[in-house]
Amino acid sequence: MKVAFFSTKSYDKDSFTKQIPHFKHQFTFLEPKLDLDTAKLAAGHDAVCAFVNDHLDEPVLRKLAELKIKRIVLRCAGYNQVNLETADELGFKICRVPAYSPEAVAEHAFALILSLSRKTHKSFNRVRDNNFSLEGLVGFNLAGKTVGVIGTGAIGTAFCKIALGFGCTVLAYDLIESKELKQIGVNYMSLDELLSDSQIISLHCPLTPGTKHLINPQTISQMPDGVMLINTSRGALIDTKAAIKGLKSKKIGYLGIDVYEQEEDLFFRNLSEEILMDEYISRLMTFPNVLITGHQAFLTREALEQIATTTLFNLDEMAQNKPLTNQIKLLKQF
Ligand code: NAD
Repeated sequence: MKVAFFSTKSYDKDSFTKQIPHFKHQFTFLEPKLDLDTAKLAAGHDAVCAFVNDHLDEPVLRKLAELKIKRIVLRCAGYNQVNLETADELGFKICRVPAYSPEAVAEHAFALILSLSRKTHKSFNRVRDNNFSLEGLVGFNLAGKTVGVIGTGAIGTAFCKIALGFGCTVLAYDLIESKELKQIGVNYMSLDELLSDSQIISLHCPLTPGTKHLINPQTISQMPDGVMLINTSRGALIDTKAAIKGLKSKKIGYLGIDVYEQEEDLFFRNLSEEILMDEYISRLMTFPNVLITGHQAFLTREALEQIATTTLFNLDEMAQNKPLTNQIKLLKQF
């Protein structure tokens, strides 16, 4: 198949071109993000390959359908960027990469936790300035702390296992409880209980209409003072204004985010020569207890390899009109 590959970065091109010779597909690597203006670049292709911030809303899907493209492969796990009702109405076939390396994201969540708990982001800068003072660097142990995990799918499960390894008490909230996690000592409870009992809270549920702003003024007020909040899932799970308020009042003691509500116009780009117009991320960056990474939790060699393998497998199944193993189906959203 001829595939229009949107939002291409060098690491995507590298990981895909290594594997393409084993598959019979032809890729056009396009730098622009997929939106209504750029959708025309897909003309003449059989399928579109898209990433997290590509637009697959109603107008773009209608444009792709006009171009006679009804196959989409997402090279990511989350699919909140797709209007599933329109895709269903127009007869699109859409596949994703359900679990490429849950450990990559879970380990990144811990990279954020450990940097914040031991202030290594501060020591890195200090030591480079020949400042070996320890003033202001007092951290805390993870062993013995209570960690709350919201969403215990593939990534949440990997996260729980790491947390148990650190000697934490692990609490969890999910619509579906995992037997495996219960057996190894994870305690499921209501969201309210988890929020009030966890010193560290990590978000691993998908973004759906029901989880948008799951972290809001009300849920923040239920958390213990000085809580550490970690989000490596999707930005809009957190109401950013409420998080800023929580940081100012010291209710939130630490915030580690790899995803941001308004990341679409910022992340995956080098804006070092530009003036940031987004007041909220600018404010977040002023807090000493906030650590932001630009949606890099997935970015390991192992994950990139798996993303390419599964995406090429998805294209193979589409090309051969086989039942699609990783198809996204229209489900009632929670
Ligand atoms: P998954 O589908 O395996 O697990 C999601 C879990 O969330 C499921 O157990 C589901 O039951 C649960 N869930 C759904 N709605 C919920 C709700 N309202 N409350 C509590 N739990 C709920 O997905 P995954 O592979 O573990 O990925 C989780 C999320 O991580 C993805 O949706 C994606 O947004 C994000 N992600 C981020 C990166 C990154 O680079 N930062 C990479 C991959 C995935």
